[in-house]
Amino acid sequence: METKDDVRGGTEATELGISTRHTEPSDDMTPFEAATFFFHRSADRLELRDEMREVLASTYRELAVQVPVRMDDGRVVVFRGYRIQHNGARGPYKGGIRYHESADLDEVRALAALMTWKNAVIDVPFGGAKGGVQCEPALLSSAELERLTRRFTGMIAYIIGVNRDIPAPDMGTNAQVMAWMMDAYGHRAGHTPGIVTGKPVELGGSPGREEATGRGVVICGREAAKRMDMTWSDCSIAIQGFGNVGYWTAALAAEQGAKVVAVSDVAGGTYNKDGLDLEALSRHQKQSLSVSEFDGGDKVSNEELLELECDILIPAAIHGVIHCKNAGRIKAKLVVEAANGPTTPAADEILNDNGVTVLPDILANAGGVTVSYFEWVQNIQQFRWEADQVNFELKKKMSKATNQVFSRAEQGGLTLRDAAFDIAVQRVAHAAEVRGYI
Ligand code: NAD
Repeated sequence: METKDDVRGGTEATELGISTRHTEPSDDMTPFEAATFFFHRSADRLELRDEMREVLASTYRELAVQVPVRMDDGRVVVFRGYRIQHNGARGPYKGGIRYHESADLDEVRALAALMTWKNAVIDVPFGGAKGGVQCEPALLSSAELERLTRRFTGMIAYIIGVNRDIPAPDMGTNAQVMAWMMDAYGHRAGHTPGIVTGKPVELGGSPGREEATGRGVVICGREAAKRMDMTWSDCSIAIQGFGNVGYWTAALAAEQGAKVVAVSDVAGGTYNKDGLDLEALSRHQKQSLSVSEFDGGDKVSNEELLELECDILIPAAIHGVIHCKNAGRIKAKLVVEAANGPTTPAADEILNDNGVTVLPDILANAGGVTVSYFEWVQNIQQFRWEADQVNFELKKKMSKATNQVFSRAEQGGLTLRDAAFDIAVQRVAHAAEVRGYI
């Protein structure tokens, strides 16, 4: 086993998906170290056996591939792609595919681990996985994206499968990318709609999947607000990110009466203390313009957005945006983590010390995988549910999980993140135990 000294108080690290264990939270942790930090704290509280801790702290299988793609101008560019399966004790591996310049091995490992805990806390019968291709999708033509997707699918095809590992959209991917993946996989295996979720409805996608993550964020956020004696219709909300999750969170939060005062994309944000006109903003965005150029609000940077005067802050873009340097300046009473890993472990402590309630990612953004589960079930049964049924079942699952996390936190005097991790780790450890993994 290859080991290295760690100057920040950890013990040892290997090269294959076993993270350095940190005893003190810090902003310097890699995404996988940060995700594993919360796991280890939970393992300590639950007094997990060492063997079990070792199994759950590491990834099960990691596939790294080169993805050569013929560009429109005739050049061939070689991208790096990954599919990482973290733990499959509770069912087939499940998790999205990210196309983003930061999607490297460590980031994909972190996202795969978070999927294990998310699927357990929301109680869908899946293990955790994630995939990624390190690229800038905005710089690729549609034809280049299609070629990249088909090539990548071919390369990971032998470790995915309807009962083995089921990809879905994440940052930089969407229903169209899932349609290409399904088609590419079908060339080998025959028509297999259940191989991916988040597909277009015409190809067996579920009604309600596109907005499911945002809908789940709002269900969970409203439940937390109620428990904090905040009236939803009096709440002002700032959202970082205006992609799939950010847009639907904003639209549904506003439809249910809250005031969305700020949103942003990678180029910056827009702020209007009286509430943004989201329909006009969406029309503006459809012209391929950044929301920061919207004339119905004042320009703010992504950093400024996080520190705005508001009741609820919803990071819905990338990881690590709330860190030691800005956590103390956050004015929201409630942070709902729609993105994966938006708060560093060190910032998490500062928010807790300052009395800011944090709804953790593994609970708050679990609506997407929940409806992915419904989509997978519909594909297997070859039976289509109505949107009302999907939304009803989503609400039931999100509310139940949210209540369980709040109860556990109250009983154990824990933060919501620690409570969610304890529930998840206990469920996964139990499944691994009864299967006879170790
Ligand atoms: P998306 O690609 O549709 O949108 C991402 C948004 O973030 C865009 O507005 C983009 O401009 C912005 N962004 C990108 N880089 C940024 C940066 N450096 N600073 C600020 N903004 C930046 O992605 P999405 O599907 O909405 O996913 C957003 C987050 O939600 C990710 O963390 C993802 O892992 C998480 N998530 C997504 C789903 C899902 O169903 N799509 C489910 C669970 C969690």
